[in-house]
Amino acid sequence: MPQQYDLLIENVHLASMTNSAQPYGEVRDAAVAISEGKIAYVGAKAGFTGHAEQIFDGQGQWLLPGFVDCHTHLVYAGSRADEFEKRLNGVSYAEISRQGGGIKSTVAATRLASFDSLQKDALKRASRLAEEGVTTIEIKSGYGLDLVTEINMLKVAKSLSQFLPIDVATTYLGAHALPLEYANRADDYIDFVCEVVMPEIAKQKLADSVDVFCESIGFDLAQCEKVFTTAKGYGLQIKAHAEQLSDLHGAKLAANFQALSVDHLEFLSEEDVSVLKQNNTVAVLLPGAFYFLNETKKPPVAALRQHNVPIAIATDLNPGSSPIASILTIMNMASVLFGLTPHEVLQGVTIHAATALGMDNKGSIAVGKDADMCLWDIQHPAELVYGVNQHRPTQKWFRGKHA
Ligand SMILES: [Zn+2]
Repeated sequence: MPQQYDLLIENVHLASMTNSAQPYGEVRDAAVAISEGKIAYVGAKAGFTGHAEQIFDGQGQWLLPGFVDCHTHLVYAGSRADEFEKRLNGVSYAEISRQGGGIKSTVAATRLASFDSLQKDALKRASRLAEEGVTTIEIKSGYGLDLVTEINMLKVAKSLSQFLPIDVATTYLGAHALPLEYANRADDYIDFVCEVVMPEIAKQKLADSVDVFCESIGFDLAQCEKVFTTAKGYGLQIKAHAEQLSDLHGAKLAANFQALSVDHLEFLSEEDVSVLKQNNTVAVLLPGAFYFLNETKKPPVAALRQHNVPIAIATDLNPGSSPIASILTIMNMASVLFGLTPHEVLQGVTIHAATALGMDNKGSIAVGKDADMCLWDIQHPAELVYGVNQHRPTQKWFRGKHA
């Protein structure tokens, strides 16, 4: 009896994104078989001897893993288009902030929003990502900064997978900004994060990870360390926004807590890069925020390469610094702005992004992994990084099902 499979996808070229010697993990004239939502065979079409219930002819197109967007803040209310317009009309950032703008306005709007309206807006943004081949999305809280709204945001984030062919990873980002009611009392707010909100989020299993904004305008090292220590106690994974605007050595602190990832990193020093490697921490680069804020200091890509630190790329989709619901655009930015090769960029939205979420069942086309895959009508995988808004998947499978 030949081995039985649910589906055979044949006549495709594969960019499997496994760590093979071949760039892109390329396999020409390949076949992929799926059983019970998992990839069960990968290899040359000629080598396939099993029997599949269904056969799909890929007509020579390229099959890639579904993309993983490993850093977003896509649950929020309100729009900051008015501020954008004010800034371009010459109003200073300080003045906008005095008028209640910036993150304060997003927090105010998100606190007032109902579950249903937050869900409706978030679904629209997540749909844009899914249309471009994203099948796993990380979503952070951090626009409530109180108990009720943070929980609401995480519940909205988790709910999105009921409506779209995506898996969602959730992150509690209480230490995102100081809420008005804690003005000048950052230590008290961190106590609230650690002693009130995090225990409840852990109890309700609403988050996989905990994140912080470690920055002179965010939280200092001691405050971040307290959040990490508490998170570890609850068995939550660690992530950090670090070295975006200055070098506080937040990435080093997080890596020493075995952080899954440290994100932004424009100001990361070369000495700290080796600490990332020692702790298997992924460097997540966010070219959308760099672009939108018109930054000039680039992350230390050469040092990350030299130390073999895995680099991931993400949209950072958020209303303030990266209102960009397009992983394909971000992929192009990563090459144009940061000089990453198309191969590095594709690793950054597949295998390395999955590692940044601690999801070893995602991010490549290999036996045993979830069958999240997209078919693209392209001549070569580099086309997905080279062009802007030129391609959409022609077929998609999520956990082995046509999506
Ligand atoms: Zn972010």
